[in-house]
Amino acid sequence: MPKHKPKLGQNFLVDESARHRIADALGDIGHRTVLEIGPGKGAITDILAGRAGRLIAIELDNELAQVLASRYAVREHIRVVHQDILDTDLTSLIPAVEKADVVGNLPYYITSDILLHLFAASAHLGRAVVMMQREVAERVAATPGNRDYGLLSATSQLYCRVENLFTLPPGAFSPPPEVYSTVLRFTFAPRFHELGINDASAFDRFLKQSFAQKRKTLSNNLRSAGYEMRQLTAAWPASIPPQARAEALSLEQMAELYRALLESI
Ligand code: SAM
Repeated sequence: MPKHKPKLGQNFLVDESARHRIADALGDIGHRTVLEIGPGKGAITDILAGRAGRLIAIELDNELAQVLASRYAVREHIRVVHQDILDTDLTSLIPAVEKADVVGNLPYYITSDILLHLFAASAHLGRAVVMMQREVAERVAATPGNRDYGLLSATSQLYCRVENLFTLPPGAFSPPPEVYSTVLRFTFAPRFHELGINDASAFDRFLKQSFAQKRKTLSNNLRSAGYEMRQLTAAWPASIPPQARAEALSLEQMAELYRALLESI
């Protein structure tokens, strides 16, 4: 029996109906490549094994990865990769002409990093059905002006359409975590083109600078990032209040400001 490792966020899903609801939320995957993040003991993997065209399960725990690898040894469409998801080049696992789907009851200690890792591979992904701590899910799905809206919300909604599917109590897991958990579905559809942005990483950087300190206004955050007051005043769009915080603005407004600053150089 593999030793339980709490540090790796190991709370295994034991609620039978939730396991099926997560797999069902991927839709028809009979011809799809599915990447599973942290398959653990196979709670979701076992269901996907009979459904996915191809299944690649990425697990950091050596013992769990070995158990799974031997369980699926004769199933040619299943591959278990013993690796840290954050060190895994996702695009190298996905056949060139295809888009893959992602599933996972995520290790909660690195949820945001995993989401950023997925966004970086967004051109190669279709949808992702992932479980995370309820509070993080609320931040991901929050709308501008909401208490929970911040950089994680803006970035998630820049790359994806986000749906909140359902929430589970601690008792759905063994051992139970101290928090409630929520399953979100991400449909990858980056909005850069529609927002008039040519350089995705420059806009990602601009968002990071804009949200750097929650208690500061947007213009003060941008000044801390090196923009000059004169440039900000000259380029500032009339539709954005001068004292606005990034947390109150839509992605359209952030993009409008970004483009105006770019043109003012
Ligand atoms: N999918 C299983 C389930 O639902 O029962 C396990 C989910 S458990 C919340 C998270 C899993 O992610 C664990 O199996 C853990 O070992 C694995 N894990 C933790 N850190 C990881 C990492 N950096 N890369 C890949 N897997 C990781």
